[in-house]
Amino acid sequence: MATLNIHIKGVSIMSLKSKAPLLSIATSILLALFIAQASAKPNSVETNEDYSMSIYPELLELRRDLFKHPEASGEEKRTSSIAANYLRDLGLEVKTNIGGYGVVGILEGSKDGKHIAWRSDMDAAKFEFGEHENHNAAHVCGHDVHTTIGLGIAKTLSQKAKNLPGTVYFLFQPAEESQQGAKAMINDGLFDMIQPDEIYAAHVGPMPTGVIFTSTGNLFSHSRYINIEFTGTGDAEALSEMVNAMMASVTRVKSPDQFTNLLNTSDPKLGLGNPETIYQDYVLFGGRPNVKNSDNKLVLSAELFTSEHQDIELVMDNLEQQIRVSKFADRFSSIQALHEREGVNNNAELVRQTSHLIKSSYGDDAIQDNFGQVPFASEDFGHFQKTVPGVYFFIGTANAEKGNVAFPHMPNFEVDEMVIHHGVSRFSSLIEHRLQQ
Ligand SMILES: [Zn+2]
Repeated sequence: MATLNIHIKGVSIMSLKSKAPLLSIATSILLALFIAQASAKPNSVETNEDYSMSIYPELLELRRDLFKHPEASGEEKRTSSIAANYLRDLGLEVKTNIGGYGVVGILEGSKDGKHIAWRSDMDAAKFEFGEHENHNAAHVCGHDVHTTIGLGIAKTLSQKAKNLPGTVYFLFQPAEESQQGAKAMINDGLFDMIQPDEIYAAHVGPMPTGVIFTSTGNLFSHSRYINIEFTGTGDAEALSEMVNAMMASVTRVKSPDQFTNLLNTSDPKLGLGNPETIYQDYVLFGGRPNVKNSDNKLVLSAELFTSEHQDIELVMDNLEQQIRVSKFADRFSSIQALHEREGVNNNAELVRQTSHLIKSSYGDDAIQDNFGQVPFASEDFGHFQKTVPGVYFFIGTANAEKGNVAFPHMPNFEVDEMVIHHGVSRFSSLIEHRLQQ
């Protein structure tokens, strides 16, 4: 809630009322004009909730335009230029082409204070299924919504910049899907340009619309490609069978059938909102090992997902021990873990403080604890969190009545667009509060 503005509104109305009987007619007319003008600027008197609703039609149009023009990782030319122009129109200083098509908008408050960054990702996902109006990508992960929410927050906060301390940085990141964009922006000097004290981001998910979920640490599984190399190219099938059986022997999943149906991540009993969720304490591979035959060697690889980081090493040690006592021990060359995905690393103290802020502004149900780690998915937001403490949130966009129940990247993924209003309102309030801490 915009506590600061409510306070100002109360003071100004009271003082005007008490002085009015003593004023000349001319002054009264001038005052009437002033009041009329002031009320024509809803931003100065309304809460973020109301302001976000007032710009919702404009944001809806913006989101639908982005949705119709999806751009794959590294190709976000149009999307980034829309974001940059929108920020310029708000009067922000704008930097472009950071690590590809990355954009940063800088909103200065009226006095010194904290520096808070809000990151939105812009890219669409490369095609995994079906046709989509001749595009090679589609917004099946909701980054069109994230971009819209980021711009909506920028508009909401820019209306009240005169009353805000500090600085807000709006980051529009390219290439999240390819897990390259965060690193690219940082390597291109992002943190020489800006020095945020805290960084935040949100991703839409299959929980009820507007409800925010988060927790300390990683919200995603840790994952690596495990490559196992053998000399010689014979017995490929037998080796594949053996390694597959070894992978099965280290697998640890509660309710395997339910686990792989990712819609269960939002199930009240099985899902991430329940302390007893099945999406915790797990180790599993993404499928049978893929066998590559080259240079007189066989390389077997499969993707490993674990809820805990330390399980990666334990799994590799276990597999190596099993191979070393197997009938193919003589041909074993190496086992390696490749392609680390960063995930997120939420700061415990900021999770505690931001959860408290959202609850006190929007009620206890507005934010809930996330238990467990989403499998088969990741993020590159953690690259920013290596330098700047921050929190990554999920925000629900599922509305059973409207039939919006899908999980990102599923063929039937569809958002309840009201998430834009809730996201703009709730996260504007969050940033506003954090600037004043
Ligand atoms: Zn995504």
